Amino acid sequence: MNSKIGQLFVISAPSGAGKSSLIQKIINNFENIELSISATTRSPREGEVDGKHYFFVTENEFNSMKEDDAFIEYALVHNYQYGTLRKYIDEKLSKGINVICDIDVQGFKLIQRDGIDHTSIFIIPPSIEELEKRLLKRGLDSENVIGTRLKNAKEEIKYAEEFNFRVLNDNFDQAYKEIVNIIINGKLIKNKDKIKIKILRDMLS
Ligand code: 5GP
Repeated sequence: MNSKIGQLFVISAPSGAGKSSLIQKIINNFENIELSISATTRSPREGEVDGKHYFFVTENEFNSMKEDDAFIEYALVHNYQYGTLRKYIDEKLSKGINVICDIDVQGFKLIQRDGIDHTSIFIIPPSIEELEKRLLKRGLDSENVIGTRLKNAKEEIKYAEEFNFRVLNDNFDQAYKEIVNIIINGKLIKNKDKIKIKILRDMLS
């Protein structure tokens, strides 16, 4: 029997909160942690590679994968379908590899609902204004798309309190250290969760 079982980490954040850079640094620095590669109906952005960043599929392909129960969760995010591949996750975990799923809040809710063993982390942006600035600076999306992403950000923030841990990304190095602590020790030293929850509630008021 294979007794090696990896751990599943679910990390969500509104786009522009710095989630991708934080996750990338973790993947680069830890040998035994990999990022789950999802399937999506979104078109590749410049520089994105099929099978590395996502498995880029058509609507038809995605829908038949849904019928085949290929996903542990799937959701419509910013008008495109995204899903976490069951086979991909099972293979990694059974080899003792830890996996990070960078998914939206809807996906997190499904994983939580289905009782899949995981640790969840929500990354809090410093403020809605800062989020907007970051999205504009990143230059990846049109003004229209940024508007949708900001609206969705407020929706996502509403669910932040349901995650196991919250990490405030107002300082990249500090946020990175906090995530490493959760991954290695399963907890946060000086969590300051009350302050984080106040920041979240202020963003919604
Ligand atoms: P992007 O298009 O910028 O790569 O990702 C947009 C959003 O989709 C991000 O918030 C990301 O976390 C989310 N996402 C990526 N893959 C999945 C997935 O497999 N499932 C769900 N539910 N969300 C995903």
